[in-house]
Amino acid sequence: MPQPFTASTITDPILDGLYETLRLYQHGPFSVRCPDCHVGPGELCLARRAVHRARRRAYREKLAAVELVPLLAAAA
Ligand SMILES: [Zn+2]
Repeated sequence: MPQPFTASTITDPILDGLYETLRLYQHGPFSVRCPDCHVGPGELCLARRAVHRARRRAYREKLAAVELVPLLAAAA
């Protein structure tokens, strides 16, 4: 008997593909080490289909630090 389609049967493979692509190119939160599960850049978090909140925060902090320099240069 075929399983009925649910939101997760459609979105889970999409999410897996997206995370795999981001991981492969070390993009977004996958460009930094995860403070929670201690995986390095370019590795998936050990939590399935999730990126730890601390890793997202670490990525945003890195991004803010990188973006601050061009803003300071533009103001000079
Ligand atoms: Zn993690």
